Amino acid sequence: MLFPFPAPAPLVGIARLAATSPRLEAKSQVEYFELESRSILNRCSSPRMPFPWTINPYRGCEFGCQYCYARYTHEFMGLEDPSLFENKIYAKARAAELLRRELRLHPEGEIALGTSTDPYQPAERRYRITRSLLEVFAGECGRRLGITTKSNLVERDIDVLLEVARRNALSINMTVTTTDPALARKLEPRAPRPDLRLAAVSRLAQAGLSVGVFASPILPGITDSESSLDAVARAAKEAGAGYLRSGLVFLMPSAQKQFFPFLDQQFPALAPRYRARFQANPYLRGEYAEMIRRRVARIRERHGLPSAPPDLAPDPAAEQEQLALFD
Ligand code: SF4
Repeated sequence: MLFPFPAPAPLVGIARLAATSPRLEAKSQVEYFELESRSILNRCSSPRMPFPWTINPYRGCEFGCQYCYARYTHEFMGLEDPSLFENKIYAKARAAELLRRELRLHPEGEIALGTSTDPYQPAERRYRITRSLLEVFAGECGRRLGITTKSNLVERDIDVLLEVARRNALSINMTVTTTDPALARKLEPRAPRPDLRLAAVSRLAQAGLSVGVFASPILPGITDSESSLDAVARAAKEAGAGYLRSGLVFLMPSAQKQFFPFLDQQFPALAPRYRARFQANPYLRGEYAEMIRRRVARIRERHGLPSAPPDLAPDPAAEQEQLALFD
């Protein structure tokens, strides 16, 4: 043969596991797989993140937010096309068993559940991996756990969330980037509508859980106006959120692959400015960032919303109860 094809490079690590994962089912363009995992509690070394541990029950996320920074996690598995992040969903096998074992090895530190996937995306309705993890936390004492989602499916787990909150510091963060349903549909095409997310905030708060709203990411020229951010803050307050946090969008090259063509279609006037700014640096810094920081601080003050949950000391009576179990 004059031009032999080179033998494909052998797949290793997570790419090999992904390629050999058994398919669980397929729904329209979405396919679900079971991913054998070696661990579920991952150390987070990023200085930008305030927590040392993360848990992601799935790889990939069906909500398909245009700005999602987590698309790189599929690239690690050899899945380069950005659309595969929302169309090939991997459910982690034996997650609860792994968590029980790993919590014994790592007794301290805040844990963030749902940093590069939504723990309440549609797959959770069927596979219930997030719920199985919460059941493990319900048997723990003195942990600090934060859950971030865009889904009202979190309401399904109010019973087990209350159990977790009895002996652990638990906060639930509902992401609401905009209250405008048409804009949300463009930005977060398969996530629940903002009003459904806010209704979930209301039910969680009424149940006595600590719940706040994340107005993140803030997108320049799209969701960064005073009126847009104020509408999110007002709706959060009315729903009973205890705090409001926000963060500016950042666009790594894997996220740019999805977001720039989206801008070309939906916001063509903004596209060249985004390209110029984010190709030079994936993070927004300087004067603009400072102006937004002041704007959000002003809005939080107007609505009486702190930037973080109050110190969530676990109920001392519940702690005593737990200790009594070991007498
Ligand atoms: S919900 Fe979060 S993880 Fe899922 S696509 Fe949107 S930004 Fe990404």
